[in-house]
Amino acid sequence: MNCPYCDSNNVRKFSLVYEDGTSRGKSEGFSDNAHYESEHFSQTPLAKRCSPPEAPEPSAIFFLISFLVSVYAAFKGGFFMGGFWWGVGVFVSSLVILIFLWGVLLGKSKKNRYDSEYMKWEKSWVCLKCGKDFQID
Ligand SMILES: [Zn+2]
Repeated sequence: MNCPYCDSNNVRKFSLVYEDGTSRGKSEGFSDNAHYESEHFSQTPLAKRCSPPEAPEPSAIFFLISFLVSVYAAFKGGFFMGGFWWGVGVFVSSLVILIFLWGVLLGKSKKNRYDSEYMKWEKSWVCLKCGKDFQID
């Protein structure tokens, strides 16, 4: 296989570059009667560039928005239905519903994006001569 830019055959797959240039591990030892354990992670700049996409995580802002909307609903709904405990009930139920709905919707869209990025990463190669990267199906 040759690089589409410079026709060099010095090309490597992203996943290999990543594995080759990334080291993580634990070291343990004793010093001055103290036991120490340290985790180390090191990565070459090229391995960093060839890293796989990060797995999606729920973002805090959506929990915050859910919370604020629920507080608003609690005041509005509780006032409308006439009572503090109605407000609390509205607050709890709208918070649960919002977090659930957003979790499902966002989780799905993030997962789809992650999957497509991951598939792209799996098909990515880097040329060690000219430094360009490219995808091969
Ligand atoms: Zn090249």
